[in-house]
Amino acid sequence: MSANERDNNALAAAVTAAGQERLGAELAALYQRLEVELSPLDARCQGCGKCCDFAAFGHRLYVTPIELAELVRQPPASRQGAAVLRCPYQVNSHCTAHDRRTLGCRVFFCRLGDEQAHRLYERHHAELRALHERAGVPYLYVELTEALGRLGRSA
Ligand code: SF4
Ligand code: SF4
Repeated sequence: MSANERDNNALAAAVTAAGQERLGAELAALYQRLEVELSPLDARCQGCGKCCDFAAFGHRLYVTPIELAELVRQPPASRQGAAVLRCPYQVNSHCTAHDRRTLGCRVFFCRLGDEQAHRLYERHHAELRALHERAGVPYLYVELTEALGRLGRSA
């Protein structure tokens, strides 16, 4: 077995291990705590969808197995994500995974200052990492379109 196949199998095993109902509920609670912190901030989104086109926007979205397990409960609409570095859950500028979107999706607002967004992300990501450790799910940190490709969810 090649190193790539071993890495892909390790990611698939971690996402399978993360797909427990209990962890989905804990992730939802973490996202809810984030929403409470975001509510007083100037973090409005016009929903243009530009930031989900990672290549054009010039940024990347990294995800962990527990986030991925939640996101891939339903397959993406497009199979072109990895090829064009665009989220395959986006259809006509619309997020088709809004209720399951990842921590990075929830923290990124083009109107929010980088430093403020970074602080929010780091704090909630630390909680997410601790959740992996408590649950015995391997912590991996993988670019979204690459991860979906490695899981066979994208081209
Ligand atoms: S955060 Fe900004 S770039 Fe992203 S969808 Fe909302 S308005 Fe568009
Ligand atoms: S899951 Fe939704 S919000 Fe997140 S990158 Fe994909 S389309 Fe954008």
